[in-house]
Amino acid sequence: MERFIDGKAIAEKFCETLKGKVERLKSAGITPCIALIKANDDPASEIYVSKKEKLAKALGIKSQVYKFLPGVKEDFLKDLIKDLNQDPSVHAILLQSPLAEGLIFKKLINLISPEKDVDGLTSINQGRLFAGENGVLPCTPQGVMHLIHSVKKDISGMHAVVLGRSVIVGRPMVSLLLNNDCTVTALHSKSKNTLEICSTADIIVSAVGKPKFVTKDFIKTGAIVIDVGINRITTLEGKRKVVGDVDFEDVWNSVGAITPVPNGVGPMTVAYLMSNTVNLAIDQNRKKLGITSDKF
Ligand code: NAP
Repeated sequence: MERFIDGKAIAEKFCETLKGKVERLKSAGITPCIALIKANDDPASEIYVSKKEKLAKALGIKSQVYKFLPGVKEDFLKDLIKDLNQDPSVHAILLQSPLAEGLIFKKLINLISPEKDVDGLTSINQGRLFAGENGVLPCTPQGVMHLIHSVKKDISGMHAVVLGRSVIVGRPMVSLLLNNDCTVTALHSKSKNTLEICSTADIIVSAVGKPKFVTKDFIKTGAIVIDVGINRITTLEGKRKVVGDVDFEDVWNSVGAITPVPNGVGPMTVAYLMSNTVNLAIDQNRKKLGITSDKF
């Protein structure tokens, strides 16, 4: 097993496979298009949105960006989402989280048509995933599954521990691992014996948002460790740095495979955002494309 899981390289390879689909859509007169809505003044969100725009452009996908400052009225965002739902040239809609104070994510996300819900976060798509039915899958957990499969094809029967139970990462991660026949334990801030449980895991997916949370005591020798955390810290030298949840150096000699931060899960999330956009464009134009089977 390759010990270092190079998320950046794996994401680049995956994106190459999307180019052909984009070309075929374009030759049928369809340009896949994602609408990105950012309603906050968060500098990290600004970086995420610009990364998404950049990759979309590189792949020939159109992006429409709507940026609003705190204070934007909820009704205005509701009307925008309704308009985008109606617009046949827009295939995918992303509501960048977090939203500015006073706006409720769950309320706005559920206004997005499930067929355009590119990050699979509407209650309908979350319910479909939970029920093991076809729907739009959230991007980060899909990226995590891809990274796990890059080092281990068959994970059936393995014990996977998910740290964190958010709607964006933890909960859908649990469902995807279950759908891949893992035995799954979901841990959260109220869990007891977290260290002991983690130390029995074949796979750990950490989405807690705390630097150096996972140390070598958490690791069963040979475990696959996927670090979803993105934490901005200041080093002793006073430099700003992005780190994950896992103390990478501490666990390195114990793990079977591990993702770094940055360049682990992050690039896969953006790659799956593009993949979902392309697949939604295909689904919304099946008749026009003359598709009768699942293959495109
Ligand atoms: P979140 O909504 O803040 O959720 C954090 C989760 O961690 C909560 O469920 C919380 O439990 C749990 N938690 C807190 N302390 C814990 C502990 N001691 N033991 C076990 N679980 C504990 O965050 P999120 O949106 O899921 O994101 C998590 C991290 O992933 C963040 O650093 C975020 O920036 C990052 N992220 C990265 C990507 C990417 O593409 N790489 C994408 C999304 C998020 P409770 O529910 O009990 O509070």
